[in-house]
Amino acid sequence: MQELKEMIVKKGIVLDENVLKVDSFLTHQIDALLMEKIGKRFAKLYQNAGITKVVTIEASGIAPAVFAGLALNVPVIFARKQKSLTMNTELLTASVYSFTKQVTNDISISTKFLTSDDCVLVIDDFLANGQAALGLIELCRQAGSDVAGIGIVIEKSFQNGRQLIEDKGYRVDSLARVKSLKDNKVEFVSEEE
Ligand code: 5GP
Repeated sequence: MQELKEMIVKKGIVLDENVLKVDSFLTHQIDALLMEKIGKRFAKLYQNAGITKVVTIEASGIAPAVFAGLALNVPVIFARKQKSLTMNTELLTASVYSFTKQVTNDISISTKFLTSDDCVLVIDDFLANGQAALGLIELCRQAGSDVAGIGIVIEKSFQNGRQLIEDKGYRVDSLARVKSLKDNKVEFVSEEE
């Protein structure tokens, strides 16, 4: 998605060879217009997949997921990283190691929001080593829901997340694929690669 790539080049900050900071439009301050376009793009990619729910993880997955849900006209569920006192119903849970925070969180979704009748589009802001996406897939598996695919805003293709997810037989769609963050520069995978 050209507009997203241009925004990454203009406003993304390369923290080191592995981490890209995009807090001015995606992970802290949110560019709602860009998110709307991102949501529409995901909706187009999955328009014939029979999606009934969009599932993401708090916090940075919520913005693109909400716009995808809006465009697909389906509910959006975000997995919580901490149990809330009000979450007194049955929970689906999985352990996820966080790439950026370097801690393991138990993520959870209430069983009442995901069932075996659902067909899910999983959305997240970044794909690095795939742990967040695999945790969300695990929650869907526990609910008996189908997973139509994983929609990612920014994939770092030099990390092994895509491989791990595709090896399990899932479809992955990323709107921007970063090939390298070396020398303080963002290099994208070309469309042909
Ligand atoms: P994974 O679980 O695929 O290893 O990492 C994905 C999660 O880690 C995403 O939910 C995202 O929040 C965070 N993450 C991974 N890499 C980056 C990065 O380069 N920049 C930012 N801002 N977040 C990242």
